Order: sequence, then C-alpha cells, then structure tokens
Amino acid sequence: MNRDALARSLSAIVGERQVLHRPSELLVYASDGLPGYRREPALAVFPRTREELVAVVRLLARERVPFVPRGAGTGLSGGALADGSVLLGLNRLTRVLSVDAENRLAVVEPGVVNVHLTRAVAPHGLHYAPDPSSQAACTIGGNVAENAGGPHCLKYGVTLNHVVALTVILPDGDIVSLGNADGEDEGYDLLGTFVGSEGCFGVALDVTVRLSPNPQAVRTLLADFTSLDAAARATSSIIAAGIVPAALEMMDQATILAVEASIYAAGYPVDAAAVLLLELDGLADGIDEDADRLRTICLGSGARSVRVARDEGERTRLWQGRKKAFGAMGRVSSHLVVQDAVIPRTRLPDVLRAIALIGEREGLTVCNVFHAGDGNLHPNIPYNANDPEESARVHRAMTAIMRTCVEAGGSVTGEHGIGIDKLDYMPLIFSEASLDAMCRLRDAFDPARRANPGKVVPIRSCREWMQAPVLR
Ligand SMILES: Cc1cc2nc3c(=O)[nH]c(=O)nc-3n(C[C@H](O)[C@H](O)[C@H](O)COP(=O)(O)OP(=O)(O)OC[C@H]3O[C@@H](n4cnc5c(N)ncnc54)[C@H](O)[C@@H]3O)c2cc1C
Repeated sequence: MNRDALARSLSAIVGERQVLHRPSELLVYASDGLPGYRREPALAVFPRTREELVAVVRLLARERVPFVPRGAGTGLSGGALADGSVLLGLNRLTRVLSVDAENRLAVVEPGVVNVHLTRAVAPHGLHYAPDPSSQAACTIGGNVAENAGGPHCLKYGVTLNHVVALTVILPDGDIVSLGNADGEDEGYDLLGTFVGSEGCFGVALDVTVRLSPNPQAVRTLLADFTSLDAAARATSSIIAAGIVPAALEMMDQATILAVEASIYAAGYPVDAAAVLLLELDGLADGIDEDADRLRTICLGSGARSVRVARDEGERTRLWQGRKKAFGAMGRVSSHLVVQDAVIPRTRLPDVLRAIALIGEREGLTVCNVFHAGDGNLHPNIPYNANDPEESARVHRAMTAIMRTCVEAGGSVTGEHGIGIDKLDYMPLIFSEASLDAMCRLRDAFDPARRANPGKVVPIRSCREWMQAPVLR
C-alpha cells in the first residue's frame, strides 16, 4: 500500500483531520526534546479512542507498516522519532478511566499527562509519585515506555515501582494483559519487561498505576555552596547518614544563572557555585529534627547557608526553578543537548570535575542540573545545532562525558532511555551476546520488528531492523 492509500485507510478509521501528511504539518513531529535530531515521519495518525487505536495498529499490521508510538514528545533520547514510518500519536487518549481510592489504584489511558493524574486524584488525598521534571507535559504511556524517574524517585522509586498492570496491543494487533492489579503475578515478569521498552514491544492501551497517600508534612530546604565539590560531598554524607530525603537535587552556577534570568526565577543565590534542593516528607513528628540534621550535614560539608521554605508559595517557587531549568536554558542558546548517565554517588566530586574539564577543553558551557541523590547526572550543553563545527565539539564532549561516567562505574542512562541518541554507547556496557539477547527478547513481542525500528539496540547487533518497508 502506498502512502496516499494508507492515509486514506487511516482516515477511514480516525477521520481525515486526525491524519497528517503534509510536510508542513509533520515538521513539528520531526524532533522530540532533543532538537539536535530530526527524522521526518511519512504520516502521523492520532486515534481518539481505544477502538480507533486498536483498528489503526491492526491496519498497520496487515499492511506490514513500521510505526513509532509517541506521547507528548518530551523524550530526551530521540526515541519518538519516526524516520519515514508512521507516527502513532497517543496524546488524544487522555481519560482517567477509573480511580479506586480505597485500594489506591487508577486506570488511565496512555495519553494522560503525568500531572493531570495527580490533579485527578488530589480530592482523595492521593498523588502519583513518579514526577519527571517534564510532568506538566509528558504522558503516562511515555513514562511507562521510558521507565521515567523524577526528583521524588529517590525515595519512592521509578515508574516501574508504580505500575501494577498494563493492557498492551502487540505490533501484530493481538491484545495482551501484563501484570496483575490484584496482587503478585506468576511466571515471567512481562510487565517489568515492557516497562522501559521504549515503544519497541508494542503500545500501552491502558495503564494501572499505584497511587500514593499525600504526606502529612513536607520540608523543602535550599543549601548553597561555594564549590561544586562541597555540594557533592554533602550529597554523599546525607545518604551515608541514613537519611532518605524525598528529593535531593543539585544545580550548578550556570544553571542557577539561567533560571534566575528567566520567568522561573526562584530566588536561588546567583553567586553560589551550586545549590542543593532537598525535600523531606512523611509524618509531622520528627520532620523538623530531620531538617536540622540535613542543615548540620550541609553546613559541615561547607554550605554557606541552608534555608527552609517558609510556606507553600516559596516551596512551589523553589521547585518550579528546578523543574523548568531545562526550559530556562532556552535563553542561553537556540538548542540544548542533555546527557543522562548514572554513576555511583561517591564518584560525584571527581566526575563533576572531569565534566568541567571536558567542557573547557571543547570551549563549551556545561550546565549541571540533576538528581544528585540517585547519582543521575544531567550535564546540559546549550549550543547552536545549525553550526556544524560547534555541533561536532558538542558531540565530542558528550561522548567524552559518557565514557567518563562508564569508567567511573556508571551506566549510559539513568532515566531518559537509549532511543537513537545513545545507540553508540550501548557496546560500552553490553557485550555482543547481551545485545543479541535483547534482540531476541524483542522478537518475542515484535518478530517483524515494526515497532519503533532502529532504536535501543545498535543496528549492527540487531541486523534485521529496518527490513520492514519504509514509506516515502
Ligand atoms: C524539561 C524536561 C525535563 C525532563 N525531566 C525528566 C525527569 O526528571 N525524569 C525523566 O525520567 N525524564 C525526564 N524527561 C524526559 C521525558 O519527559 C520522559 O522520558 C517522558 O517519560 C517521556 O514521555 P512522553 O509522553 O513525552 O514520551 P515521548 O517522548 O512521546 O516518547 C518516549 C518513548 O516512549 C514511547 N511511547 C510513548 N507512548 C507510548 C505508549 N503508549 N506505548 C508504548 N510506547 C510509548 C515512544 O515510542 C518513545 O520511545 C524530561 C524531559 C524534558 C523535556
């Protein structure tokens, strides 16, 4: 079936307005949150109901057409880019299907925006704990596919810890249930396999998530440091002292300056080399004592000052600055590249020093804003992607940073996934045999390899990829 015929068949299912085929309409879907990559889809289709979605996937299966699921497109590894294939937009599927406050469960469609779920269950004193900084835009389906994290995942765990069941449509059109909302499942952990599969194993039709009770009390602290080293030391000392904050985030001076110059200005000290944003939550009893212990540890590690947010307004501002930091960097340059690696926490001081040296060597500004408590680094480099020479320096710097993290005992992604951005780094940590095992696992879900082709495992390891016809 050619492209026009496919567009007509898709329109018959979802209506003409839900199928995009003009280059000018598709332009916006050529990138995700990493603007350095552009891949044009052949078509984009936006089902509005589960029935339409199922019919679309079955049509694509019959016609053996490759496709790429896409939620909000906030991914930071080029995972939702469809290169000459069909982009399957899921952001019209936005219903919270049910809330079971007693059992603290909710069933949602994949296009529900993360923070909308928390808003929907707030009247029950509940929230959805995984809170990526993109939570105002990213979808639960995208979170499942990336096994997304977020500031509060230090204490509460990542997406996988909060998803109890999934209904999935496999690329061949079969519908399967994974996991079990009523308790432990038996047999292989296929739910755990699907979470983090980056759209390569099928499409989540609905997601059953665990909800968390709102804490009785919260304390949010801002500690400011005159050296990055001291902030990193404080991070290790807090964890070593046996305190598990709800969140422990670090921002360096370049990030602070970008935030403070933007509409998200949070009152961070602009002369600080780094700040730690710390949060404690739980029972009201004892929370102020824990806050005092955090203050003492930070001061003992060299903090200049530690302040506790006085009210909800101040707390919201402090968090808004952190969560909108990537956006604030839009002021610095036209494009931004974000690295995502995870390292042992104790290696934070030397790895941060090494990253600064790499930036200096390549003549680039590296801004660090990251989940320090998890050892999950996010060095950001604002740059101009239209300048090939600068882009080449950025690429060299990013590769050197990743190698440094792997050599420090780390891994190539903390939460943003592999997508296309990190394909070349996979052999740094996985042997050919492991990569081959991943390809064979993929075959169990998608033997024709039509779902999100060319992602996650390097093509030389998974040779058959892209065999499926590409529409042009
Ligand atoms: C400013 C900013 C801050 C961020 N902060 C964080 C953070 O703190 N923590 C974090 O983990 N990430 C963060 N991210 C990255 C991103 O928001 C997450 O990876 C998020 O989970 C992506 O969701 P999405 O709906 O945008 O998915 P998309 O980008 O649309 O897609 C991501 C992947 O999921 C697949 N997919 C989407 N929906 C489905 C579905 N229903 N079924 C199967 N596969 C599907 C796609 O094929 C793709 O591979 C941030 C991004 C930005 C821009």
